[in-house]
Order: sequence, then structure tokens, then C-alpha cells
Amino acid sequence: MSEWTYAPAPESSALANLRPSYRPFVDGEFVDGGGEPLKTVNPATEEVLAEVGTADRGDVERAVAAARRAYDEVWGPMPGAQRAKYLFRIARVVAERARELSVLEALDNGKPIRESRDVDVPLASQHLFHHAGWADKLEYSGAGSRSLGVVGAVIPWNFPLLMAAWKVAPALACGNTIVLKPAETTPLTALVLAEIAADAGLPPGVLNVLPGAGDVGAAVVGSPVDKVAFTGSTEVGRQIQRSLAGTRRRLTLELGGKAANIVYADAALDQAVEGIVDGIFFNQGHVCCAGSRLLVQEAVVEELVERLQERVRTLRVGDPLDKNTDVGAINSRAQLDRIVDLAAAGDAEGAVRWTSPCPLPERGLFFPPTVFSGVEPTMRVAREEIFGPVLSVLTFRTPDEAVAKANDTAYGLSAGVWTEKGAKALWTAQRLRAGVVWANTFNRFDPASPFGGFGESGFGREGGRAGLAAYLAG
Ligand code: NAD
Repeated sequence: MSEWTYAPAPESSALANLRPSYRPFVDGEFVDGGGEPLKTVNPATEEVLAEVGTADRGDVERAVAAARRAYDEVWGPMPGAQRAKYLFRIARVVAERARELSVLEALDNGKPIRESRDVDVPLASQHLFHHAGWADKLEYSGAGSRSLGVVGAVIPWNFPLLMAAWKVAPALACGNTIVLKPAETTPLTALVLAEIAADAGLPPGVLNVLPGAGDVGAAVVGSPVDKVAFTGSTEVGRQIQRSLAGTRRRLTLELGGKAANIVYADAALDQAVEGIVDGIFFNQGHVCCAGSRLLVQEAVVEELVERLQERVRTLRVGDPLDKNTDVGAINSRAQLDRIVDLAAAGDAEGAVRWTSPCPLPERGLFFPPTVFSGVEPTMRVAREEIFGPVLSVLTFRTPDEAVAKANDTAYGLSAGVWTEKGAKALWTAQRLRAGVVWANTFNRFDPASPFGGFGESGFGREGGRAGLAAYLAG
């Protein structure tokens, strides 16, 4: 009998309604940006998807001026119940156009359609719905109800639509207007969000979307906005914090991470294996809160790593549009090079590399799921954010040692704990210096639950009532 295999189940790329060119959205209109157009590429094939107009300084100035006028004349004075109507409308259309947005996101980012369809797009629409519900109830939020003014937001490429929704939804619900700069490698879904907002009748200037590279982000940050909301690398976050020091402008920073995922010997190991896989291989490991440092109690490390490898072997790496694909393409060549370099540093420092024997596509940007064991806390693969499908396994003997090793990082965004004992989970969670701690699960997100970091993972929260406080003056 021939080997049983998966039948291909490709989603049609035609659903993305891809256009040959896209343009910046300023003051309610798509305009020719003054910057050099960029070409956005499908990382699974390295083929150009579309040409995208970018903003120059003049466009940034016009967008910020339009946002200011819209804030002063329309959006700021508008009652919350009215603002909510627009946000509910946008949320509904995002949900209605979910299939198109999922395919577009998979094409532009390289993530599997299974994830854009089941995670990114539904969560984006949930964030919009959730915040629409707050717009007329802000006085009960505990954070006041006065808006800040104009928000400048800069976002990364790993969850393009979701990160846009995380900024746009609370900013608008709280009565602010916004100038949003999507990442240079993934601008498309933010521009479709702008189109949805325009179709929903959102007044001109309330939302502006300016594609471009870091210089456009820096121009937005340096413009006379009232608040900067940044998600991205710690390095750029530091520069932004320096540039805003001494100004009256508010700032929230959602930066990198190197999360510990702690497995005690009494944990349900098969369940833990599923959580570990989700923690590090979800979205090719391009996740700020990825469980990239696995801490395993010594008594079970061999058994756990064996079961983990058995499970990881089954992950299918390949065409992001195939519904059977578990791990898609790496978003850019620069990111792939970084993953390759950091994995080589793991070899050089003496960690033991295991690579899934899965077949990789012949073209496109791919990296196989990789597990390093025998990792010491001083190694680069234990300290630096790899932002790829690479897991580092460390061990511990006692709960105190687990906590000490978990907290031995400059970051502090998230962590995970796996144990059968509720008291042990709580004891551990109380001692972990991380903004989010998951117990017997990983990578759970909910708009009602705040998300954010400590230390070099940044400050400020997104989601929940704490997330509203970041967009309100009290
Ligand atoms: P990045 O910092 O290079 O880029 C992020 C965004 O900032 C992009 O839009 C980029 O164009 C822009 N930018 C670059 N230089 C700038 C400058 N000088 N001034 C203003 N804007 C500038 O990060 P990246 O490689 O796109 O994203 C990956 C990083 O984002 C990872 O470190 C990841 O952990 C982090 N991240 C954090 C969260 C979170 O919520 N904490 C979520 C997603 C990603």
C-alpha cells in the first residue's frame, strides 16, 4: 500500500482581491505618497505581490494635521455612543471580509492560512468589537474618559492586521484620532482596514495609514502627536523613548521577549508538549511572547524532549495557503539570516541542535522547526530573541531554581507554567517577572485581558481596562 499522505488543500489566492498597487490613506482618501514606492513580496515564493506607495515627511505632516483637525472638530466632541457605531461597523465588516483578509495576510506575511483565519483576523475583529463596546462607557473604566488627542502608532510585521487593530480600536474608542505606520514588509491588510473604515463612513482624518520604512516611523514619532504607541524591537523602542524624553507626549512600548515556559515533573506531559509546540512554532516563532526558553525539571527532561521531537516531526512546513500547513514562511530574508546566525551561535557555544526532518519547499524563505538542548543560561540562544522556530531547552531541579532561571532575562513579557498542582502554578506565577503568565496553556489572547511587559519588553498595556488607560488622560 502506498504511504498515506495529506491531500493538498490550498485556499485560493484570488480571494485576497490583490491589486497591483496600493497607496497611503490620508484625510479620508488614498493619495500618491511622496516617498519611493516599495514592493511587497510573498515570502513563500519571493514573488512581488504589489507595489505600495509610501509616505514622505510632507505626507506625515498632512496626516498629522488632518488627524488634529478631525480630533478638534469631529471625533473629539462626538459622543461615545456615536463613535461606537463607527467602530461596530468596522468590526462587522472585518468579520464579513475575514476570508479575504486571512488570505491577504497569509500572502503578505507568510503565516499559515490556518492561523490568519483562526487567530489573526477573528482576534482583530474581537478587539474592534470589544473597544466599540467601551466607547460610551469610559466613565466606568476606572481610567477616566478624557481623550489624549492625536496618536502616532508604529507596528511590526508579525501580526500586521491584529497589531493595527490593537492600536486603532482603543485609540478611536477613547476619542483619539490616529496616524498608523505599518511595517514595510507587510503593509497590505492595514490599507484594507483603511478602506473598510472609509466604507464605514469614518470621518476623514480620524484614521490615517502611512506605509513606509523606519524613516516614516521616525517622522510619525517626531511629529506633534500627543501619544506614541509603538510595537516592535527593543532597540527601536529605546531610540523612541530617548527621542520623547523631556516632551509631554505619552508613550507605550510593546517590545521583544524571551519567555520561559516552565514544565514541572508532575505536569501532564502530552498536554505540555502541545503547549510547547504552540508556544514556539505558532507563527514561525515570530511572536513577541513566544515560549522560546523551555525550562524542564530534570527528572522528566529526557522523556519530554523525546515526546516533543516526536510531535514536532509531524509539523508540516510549507505553502502558507495550504490548510494543512502548520509552519509557514519566514517573513523576510533579513529575518531568515538572523535566525540562521543565531542558530549557528547555538552550535558554536556547544548546545545540541535537533532539526525536524520535515521536507522544506524548494523556493521561498523557510526554516525548519529546531530544538536546542543542553542550553546554558549564558548562551546567546538562551538570552537573545531569535524570533523564529527555534526552541532552547534548559533544565532546573527545584521550583526556586526554575523561577531564578526564568527571571534571568532582561525581558519580561510572558511566561508559562505546566503542573498538575494549582498551588504550585500560583506560587510560580506570583514570582515570575512577566506581564502575562499562562498556566497549563500558552498563547491565549483576549481583548478583555491586558497584555504588556516589564523591563526591556516595554511598558503600558493593550487590552482590558488597563489598555484603555493608555489612551485616556484621566
Ligand atoms: P522593528 O523595531 O524593526 O520595526 C517595528 C516597526 O518600527 C516597523 O514598522 C518599522 O518600520 C518601524 N521603525 C523602524 N525604525 C524606526 C525608527 N527609528 N523610528 C520609528 N519607527 C521605526 O521590529 P520588527 O523587526 O518589525 O518586529 C519584531 C519585533 O517586534 C520583535 O522584537 C518583537 O518581539 C516585537 N513585537 C512585540 C510585540 C509586543 O506586543 N510586545 C508584538 C509584536 C512584535
